[in-house]
Amino acid sequence: MNGKSVIGAVALMVSLTSSAMVSAQSIAETAVKKSNEVIDAVIEAYGGAKTISGLNIVSMDNISETAAVGQSRKPGPPFDRDKTKGSTYIDYEKKIFVTRAAGTGGGNKFDVGNIINGDEGFNINHLAGFVTPQEQPDFNNASGPFVRVTTPLLVKQLQERRHTSHWLGVAEVDGKPHDVITLVMEVGPGLSLYFDQESRRLNKAERILPPFGVVEYRFRRHKDIGGTSFNTDFELLLNGDHNLDRKLANIKVNKAQADITDLPADALVNEPVGPDAMSTTTLDEGVFLIGANGAYSLFVEMEDSVFAAGATGGVSTRIEELRKSVPEKPIKQALLTHHHSDHVPGAADFVAAEATLLTVAENEGVVRAAAGEKAKIEFVADGHRIADKSQTVIIRNIGPTPHTENLLVVYLPKQGIVFEADHFSLPRNGTLPAPSNNARALAAAVKDWEFDTLVGAHSSATASKKDLLGVAGDKMSMH
Ligand SMILES: [Zn+2]
Repeated sequence: MNGKSVIGAVALMVSLTSSAMVSAQSIAETAVKKSNEVIDAVIEAYGGAKTISGLNIVSMDNISETAAVGQSRKPGPPFDRDKTKGSTYIDYEKKIFVTRAAGTGGGNKFDVGNIINGDEGFNINHLAGFVTPQEQPDFNNASGPFVRVTTPLLVKQLQERRHTSHWLGVAEVDGKPHDVITLVMEVGPGLSLYFDQESRRLNKAERILPPFGVVEYRFRRHKDIGGTSFNTDFELLLNGDHNLDRKLANIKVNKAQADITDLPADALVNEPVGPDAMSTTTLDEGVFLIGANGAYSLFVEMEDSVFAAGATGGVSTRIEELRKSVPEKPIKQALLTHHHSDHVPGAADFVAAEATLLTVAENEGVVRAAAGEKAKIEFVADGHRIADKSQTVIIRNIGPTPHTENLLVVYLPKQGIVFEADHFSLPRNGTLPAPSNNARALAAAVKDWEFDTLVGAHSSATASKKDLLGVAGDKMSMH
């Protein structure tokens, strides 16, 4: 509805100007002139130019509830809801940006944060107790998501970057006319900001973010703090579907916290890890873990064909890499570990390579949506076996786990190798992951299998069965 109103307004402007025989340039002139008028009025309504330019330090706490679209335990709706508690601190002058978020998601507990302090940046895993320096800390990059959902900071952006703005037209939000102004921030696609024509309040923002689609932010509650107006909540909609609710509290303006950039006192500081370039790890004869950028597949060379497992995005480049080790044999079967949105995009590449996709019946809809209606799909049950003279592959379904209803895991009994996804996430720097209910579920499922090499869909690192049982056992002994 709102989108249509915008198009209507633009169409009206075009027809008015053309009928008056005014040159096309005046559309741009109008867009800039109106934009400046609206921005001036908005800055006044948000406390004036001095207040907005003087907004230097902002801190607040938040509580969020997210719908885990594509990441729930079941393939379809209703989606699981994850709760997160967090805090944020920004200091524009010193280029400090600090966040922390703790909660549950995908069956895991987490408590993570990051600290940007000028040229330095750190990712902090509070649960596991380690700190990893960032390769390329970037204040604008890191703070962008926070600025985009904090209304006076968006007004501050408009004040500083008004040269990027155009007036798009008038659209209705909750039955009231709003001026729509564009804003291009330092990073990310342009935003459309909807300001109430009467109160000049920012009630809605929108941006188009491929491949996700239309991301819409709604600001419904507002409170006067520090001479300006802050939103005290926001809702995020993805292509019109409700995705996230956040409530904001304890908002403070220009209150410096001297210790905000201190690293946790007893944390282990890891070496920074470099770019995750394409690599082939030969786990055993004819068994390869291939991938890059946190996305890996397992390939097993059979007598006349190749068996593959793991369909995170980027499968076509992994197949190219495989051809250095196995030049010709066709990929006959490709296993999808589970239905999550980051574990199905490679399915289409396997179909293009004429492989049959292996999955469970419950996931057919998700797999067809990712791989196309013509995909050859075979449903496999726990214990499914693919074997020839040289190799034996056993597929086990260890679901339900806290992470997903069905989880297909590959077990190579001859070599003692297990390939899984999302239950034992190995950092590339070799530190073991924090104990989790997912690791515990995996450990319980595989404890009687004979293997010594455990690899995953998101890392080139390898672990042992002992590592897994140790991490899972740590957690169990804590209870
Ligand atoms: Zn997953």
